Amino acid sequence: MTDRTIVAGVAIDTRHWIGGRRVGSAETFTDHSPIDGAVLGEIARGGAAEADAAMAAAKAAFPAWAATPRAERARLLHAIADGVEKRLEELAIVETSDNGALLRSHRRGVMPRVAHNFRFFADWLLQLEHEDFETRGHTNHVSWDPAGPCVLITPWNAPLMLSTWKVAPALAAGNTVVLKPAEWSPLTASLLADIAAEAGLPAGVLNVVQGYGGEVGSALVSHPDARRISFTGSVPTAKAIAAAAAANLTPLSLELGGKSPLLVFADADLDLAVDLAVEQYDNAGQVCLSGTRLLVESSVAEEFTRRFVAKASALQQGDPRDEATDIGPNIHQRQLEKIDGFVQRALTAGARAVIGGTPNEELGGLYYRPTLLTDVAQDSEIVQEEVFGPVLVLQTFDTEDEAVRLANDTRFGLAATVATGDRERAERVGAQLVAGTVWVNCFFVRDLQAPFGGSRESGVGREGGDWSFDFYCDVKNTVTAPNGWRNHG
Ligand code: NAD
Repeated sequence: MTDRTIVAGVAIDTRHWIGGRRVGSAETFTDHSPIDGAVLGEIARGGAAEADAAMAAAKAAFPAWAATPRAERARLLHAIADGVEKRLEELAIVETSDNGALLRSHRRGVMPRVAHNFRFFADWLLQLEHEDFETRGHTNHVSWDPAGPCVLITPWNAPLMLSTWKVAPALAAGNTVVLKPAEWSPLTASLLADIAAEAGLPAGVLNVVQGYGGEVGSALVSHPDARRISFTGSVPTAKAIAAAAAANLTPLSLELGGKSPLLVFADADLDLAVDLAVEQYDNAGQVCLSGTRLLVESSVAEEFTRRFVAKASALQQGDPRDEATDIGPNIHQRQLEKIDGFVQRALTAGARAVIGGTPNEELGGLYYRPTLLTDVAQDSEIVQEEVFGPVLVLQTFDTEDEAVRLANDTRFGLAATVATGDRERAERVGAQLVAGTVWVNCFFVRDLQAPFGGSRESGVGREGGDWSFDFYCDVKNTVTAPNGWRNHG
């Protein structure tokens, strides 16, 4: 079995990281690059035995880590952030090779954000407190106790950013972690294990297991020693995980898919609205928060569409390592086929492709043309289901009430974006939208202290700032009577 691979000059150990050492599996799976299909490595394929070993390591390391003073935990998280910054270029190129997202975004946005995830939760931990309060002279004192080993399961569309958005608060809270990254993008999680070890994180505090969701993943989420499960991924997987977690009553945080609306009112700055709409093609449309349903007021729909087409047609599609590229490949042949299946069924049902509507035959491989569909029925599959590719639909509305009704008419509720020049309208509409996040005249502004999560089938629970610590900790209230102390002199 091969234990190592080299990707873009970066050496990566492809085994698990359990209890502070590398552990192989009898079987491996092959990791391919979505850019050109190149083989990136043979990755350890974990199962129930590796899940048990990782959980045992996390359980053994828990008491000492939980007892480590907050300041020391925070120092170690900052040391991990330093390591991320030191290896930023390596992490960026490995992530791009593995999941096909733009190198320039990884360099300038994503990897700095990964370091920030650690710094933010380290600093937040140090100021985490609730003011004591009194009940008939008794003092109530609220504390956040570490909960135990946490199972963290993440998807491929933003692998290291989404993993560390869970790892950082879980560790800050005094928990130990077993991280399972997605099998389509396993590499940067392995580098994170190296960085954490170099930073001095004690053995067993962070464990990384590789493998398929239905194998090592399901063994982890049904493990009786898991004290928390935080999952980001698709709705069907979330339902399977929730069922497994129910057997042990393990608390869950679920960050799932969406079919978010972008509402464009006639009073909006139309150029801004078009910029916001074109931004929805970022990461080749593989962003949970994407506003994939453009709801445009009828009176400006024609002009909006004209400007949108001009702007979207200028996007450069190609190799994500090239600075000039705006849209890279999709992740996998299965994903490309899924995207095209949605589009072809919509076209058969009467939709019209204003732009795109096919894979990019010139580039071949996994590149799908940025697509805009109109003439779609509200109850059709293309309006109701998450495509997770560069595919937007455009519908029109005549009144504010109609806009809100259409916006809320899916089973999701992750995010919504409103483009309007009227502040009162923004407040009125925003208050009626079912969404974990509403952006007004902006998109993807995400502060780590803000609550993040989805309503309806877009998720369960919120993470971010205090909400992360509420989830990752056993929150305790200690009530102390005013008298009853013995006098010890
Ligand atoms: P997925 O559900 O197929 O897989 C996600 C992870 O779950 C992978 O690591 C996979 O191995 C694991 N898994 C699969 N079956 C499992 C099981 N039975 N038990 C335990 N683990 C299992 O999702 P995906 O295709 O990798 O990701 C795309 C989805 O993620 C989209 O729906 C997208 O909207 C969603 N997403 C949501 C957010 C958010 O914050 N709300 C962010 C990014 C992506």
